[in-house]
This record gives sequence, C-alpha cells and structure tokens, in this order.
Amino acid sequence: MRGLRFWAGLAPLALLAACGTSGGSSGSAVSVDGETIAKGTDADWLSYGRTYDEQRFSPLKQINTENAGQLGLAWFADLDTARGQEGTPLAIDGKLYISTAWSKVKAYDVASGKLLWEYDPKVPGDAAVKACCDVVNRGLAAWGDKLFIGSLDGRLIAIDRATGKELWSVVTVDQTKNYTITGAPRVVNGLVIIGNGGAEYGVRGYVTAYDANTGKQAWRFYTVPDQPGKNTAEYLKKAEATWKGDYWKLGGGGTVWDAMAYDPALDLLYIGVGNGSPWNQAYRSPGGGDNLYLSSIVAIHAKTGEYAWHFQETPGETWDYTATQHIMLADLTIDGKPRKVLMHAPKNGFFYVIDRTNGQFISGKNYVPVNWATGLDPKTGRPIENPQSRYDKTGKPWIGSPGPGGAHSWHPMAYDPAEGLVFIPAQITAFPYIPDPKWKPAAMGFNTGADFAAGSMPADPKVREAALKSTTGALVAWDPVAQKERWRLDMKGPWNGGLLATAGGLLFQGNATGNFVAYASKDGKPLWTFPAQTGIIAPPITFTVKGEQYVAILAGWGGSFALSPGIVALKSGATRNVSRLLVFKLGGKAVLPATQPIVEAPLNPPPATAPAAVVAQGGQIFGRYCGVCHGDAAISGGVTPDLRHSAALGDAKTWQAIVHDGALTANGMVGWSKVLSPSDIDAVRAYVIKRANEDKALAQAKATK
Ligand code: CA
Repeated sequence: MRGLRFWAGLAPLALLAACGTSGGSSGSAVSVDGETIAKGTDADWLSYGRTYDEQRFSPLKQINTENAGQLGLAWFADLDTARGQEGTPLAIDGKLYISTAWSKVKAYDVASGKLLWEYDPKVPGDAAVKACCDVVNRGLAAWGDKLFIGSLDGRLIAIDRATGKELWSVVTVDQTKNYTITGAPRVVNGLVIIGNGGAEYGVRGYVTAYDANTGKQAWRFYTVPDQPGKNTAEYLKKAEATWKGDYWKLGGGGTVWDAMAYDPALDLLYIGVGNGSPWNQAYRSPGGGDNLYLSSIVAIHAKTGEYAWHFQETPGETWDYTATQHIMLADLTIDGKPRKVLMHAPKNGFFYVIDRTNGQFISGKNYVPVNWATGLDPKTGRPIENPQSRYDKTGKPWIGSPGPGGAHSWHPMAYDPAEGLVFIPAQITAFPYIPDPKWKPAAMGFNTGADFAAGSMPADPKVREAALKSTTGALVAWDPVAQKERWRLDMKGPWNGGLLATAGGLLFQGNATGNFVAYASKDGKPLWTFPAQTGIIAPPITFTVKGEQYVAILAGWGGSFALSPGIVALKSGATRNVSRLLVFKLGGKAVLPATQPIVEAPLNPPPATAPAAVVAQGGQIFGRYCGVCHGDAAISGGVTPDLRHSAALGDAKTWQAIVHDGALTANGMVGWSKVLSPSDIDAVRAYVIKRANEDKALAQAKATK
C-alpha cells in the first residue's frame, strides 16, 4: 500500500522530466487563453462553466463509480463571510481561486491547503439594499496572468493572479441607480464581458466588454430599448415597436445577471436576458407587447458587440420569468442530423433546444409541472399562455407555477455526453401574483407592481402545511434529444446546489439539507454522502494536482430562497450558514469541527397593542420593502436576522435608529428615511410584533397538543 502511493506520487515528476518542460516542481504553467478555455485542460478549471460551452463536464475519471465511496475531505478553509456562497472556484496550476459573499477573492495552494493571498474590494454595506438575492458572487474569470471579478457595487476589477494585487478597476454601472453585480465575468478574444442585476429595482439591462489588459471599454450591448427616437442600433429600433407607454422611465429591466456562453467557431456570445422592470406588464408596457429582448436568449458577435439573433422564451414577461439561467452549448444528433444547439432550462419551466447558429427553435418541453402555459407552439416555440395567468391583464390574483423563484434558478446544470443527459437542479414552486392597483415607483426597494403583502403567508397551520408540502425540488436527468426525463430524484425542498458531471460516471451535487452527494450519472443512485453542516447552493468543480484528482466546492446557505420566501425557506432544514471551502480527494482524512444542533429560541415579543389599522399599514410596507431580505411574514430563512426575535422590537428608539437612521448600514441594513417616515417605520414594528405574537401562539398551541 505504502509503496504504491510512493510510486503514484513520483509518476508525474518522471513524466515532467521526460517531456523536458520547464516551470519547476509545479509543472509548466498552463496558458490561460481562448484555446485552452475552449478545449479545457484535464488538470484545471479555467472558466466559470469549465469551457466556453459551459457543459460542466470533466473528462477526469480517477474518481469514479467504483471508488467514490472512498472520497474524503482533504482539507477545508473557513471563510470570513456568513452569507450565501454561490461561487464556482477556478483551479489553475495547482491553485484554487474562489470568490465569496461580498465579492471577496481568495487563493489557496491545493496540495497544502495554505491561503496564498486574499483580496477584498471593500464593497460598502449599503450596496446590499440594491441586491434582490443576497450579497453573493458566483465566480471569477481568468485570462493570461489575471483574474477578474464583478463587485456587488458595480465595479469590474482585474487582479494579479500571482499576488492578488489589484491591477485595474472600472465602474461598469451608474452607481446612483440600483445596479448590482453577482455574476461571473467571461473572457473572449481578450475582452472581459460583464453584465449586472437590478430588474426588481427599475434599471435597464446591458452587458459591456472591456480590454483585459487595460480595462478600456470595447463595446456595450443594451437588452431593452431607450426612449423612442433615441435608439440608433437597428435591433433596438426593432425592439422599440414591441413596447408601449413610458417604459424607459421605469428602466424596463432585462438585466444579464448570470448566464453567458461562447462559440469560438461562430464567434457568437450568448447572453440570457432577465425579467421586466417592473414585473407587472400593465405598468411597464400598458397594453402589452412582446417587450423585446426581455426573457430572451440573445446572440452577439463577440468581437464587435453587434446583434446576431434572439429567441424570446416568455414574450411580454410579467412573472419574473428570466432567461438568465445556465446556457449550455453542445453538438447533438437530432433526426439523424448533426446540430449545433444551445440548451436552456429557464425559470418558466420549459427545456429549450435551439439552433445556436441562427436562433431557430428546435424543440421544447416542460421539465416540471407548469400552469402559466399549456405548451409551446411546435414551429415557433412561442408559449401557449393560459389567459388566467395574466394578472396584469385580468387585474385578478393568480397562483402561478413556477413562481418568481423559477423552475430552475442560477444553479448550474451539467451535461454528460456519454449518457446524453442534461442534469437540472429543478424546483417546484408557486407564488401568488397579485396586482397592486396603487403601485407607484419608489427610489428604494422592490418595484414590481405586484402586491407582496396581500399574498403573505397567514398564521394558519393548514395553509402553512399546504405551502410547505407543495414547495419542493428535484434532480432531473433530461434527455435533450427526446425531450424527456430519464430519471428524477425528489429532493426535500428547492434551492439545491449546482452540478458537476464527470467521465467517471459521477454526478456531484450539494443540497439544501446540508449534504454533498456523488450520484451515478446513469441512474441517480447515491454512491457517497458528506454531511457539510450547512446548506450547499454552489456548484462543485474537479481538477488534478500532480496527477491526483480533487473535487472542490463552496458551502454556505443563502441566496434569494434563504431570504424572501419566509416559512418555506425552512423546508429542507439546514438553514445555518457555515461558510467554507471544502476540498476532497480519495482517502482524504480531514474532519470538520463538531457543531451544535440548531435550536430555535422561543419567541418572546412585547405584547401586540397597536391598532389593527397600524398593523395593516406596517404589513403593507413590510411586504414591499422588508420581506425580500427578512422573509415573507417576517420569518427568516436563517441567513438574515429574524426580526420576530429582534431585541429592538421592544424599544421604539433603537428600532428607529436602525430602520430610519441606518445604524447598521455597515452590516448591510441601510436606513429607509428616503422612502419611509418615522410613523411608517413604527407601523412596521407594530406589524412584526403582531407576527411574533401570532407565531408564539401557534408554537404554544402545538406544544400543548
Ligand atoms: Ca428577477
């Protein structure tokens, strides 16, 4: 045994000597360029989706279905942020580079687990109020000897990969507006491409390309038109005709906050465009229209930034059905013919296969139950809408499935070419879309035109139980050629981690229950499970160092589902945030420190004495401004403070100091004096006191049963 390991350790060195390569004991440095990112290297993970096609499939098979059970923790590193960790690490030449919550970057030596350097862009705490979905970051881009990160407050920053020193920084958004960046940049043709988010807050979406060496802007591509008459590009003039009213005053939305893919042979960059701003189309574009290019895949000539084609998945979007989800490219044989396709499982619940040379619809089928559309037009791919789903037109509430959380969110899929399967971290959710007849745009907070207070979860055990039961998740193995499911694993709840597939026949996923699992790709049989002590939402990567295969993943519960949905965020249970980088290999022997079980403290609020009208006013304000971070009906998903337990509830002055004056701004809780008066803020306190008393009574009733 000992001898065998000795031999295995020497082999890569012997190989190096034979090849006569230079570069010292760590081997020759990989050249991080368009060619290596397009093809991928076995030893590294060079780009967000591993390769430009974003398949997240590794050819490595040292760890495989035979030995996955021998996986163990090689080492771990605790992180200095306690919010959602959504990042895909990069692995280059035996080093790991990660981005964490609050857009921080860290570099580690894989063999030793040693921290090499860290970089903190010092995002101001008040940037958090512009972020719909936690202060997360999904990853870095690499090119040459540089790394690139988009910071939450809207900067694109170049870092020296060897030292972690900042090389250049550009502000890529109007920082007076509600833009954020959480997505990973991509680099093509020496240009760093970065998008942004903010479509819940009244912004206009775009992507920008910057020279990787200098940070000089090369081009910018807007996804929605400016005011009529102000659009010069032909594709925006065409889009103008699909909008009505004063849409440009509300921003329009269409932010590109996550997915991109690139085909070097076609030189086409594919971007996924987000939802409309505000959601409710009756406000955004009164009278309807397709509202191009919302909820579309758009192909852009990468060198020039010119429009090539688009495919709109949800015309006249009104449900927060973004098309920003993972875009994956593959070459498939369909009806006996080789096709260059783009595959997409957006929020709206349909799996699309599109010809990536021209945007032509090939096929589409729902991968979870949906009720907003009965299917897709087989020729055009246009959805056949259920007319009742248009709460913007009917003016009536609509319980939509999927809800704004989507049938699939940002969590990356993975592809196994040998099995011919795309794996989807899917979710089954619903949401009450209720038009808000009194809606007016505000400078801060959610601007959706939907009434979040009216649809808030009541303190009724039966309703809560039904909501918990119907909110769930699945790991779906989808055959994109046949457009059907081959296997499915039902998960305890939604918001499970992104995926990695390998030539070892393995599919890796961390999940919301706090486990990191290796499955057999062919049938979904679990082969290995690691209890991670916290919900995992990020996707894993794999790579080798000196010939030994590793698997790395960020752990740490958070993201939008941990913040806004209230009680259903607790569905899977593991809602503690323990933010860590976990690195595994065969025979790894490291162990995590023991944790205490999660014990929920009993509620002990002051008595509810405020008049019903004040509580109702507070509920309305809470629904619009507070619930997005502190949870529907003031029930926290375990990442942001649960206000029902707040010590400030019993102290009106402290409450005002925090909520009105912004005493906790550095932590991400800004003051709301711009949009809320002191009496509004007192009403919110009355509402939270009422909610805490209701839940205390429920808990007591349950205990005495
Ligand atoms: Ca959105």
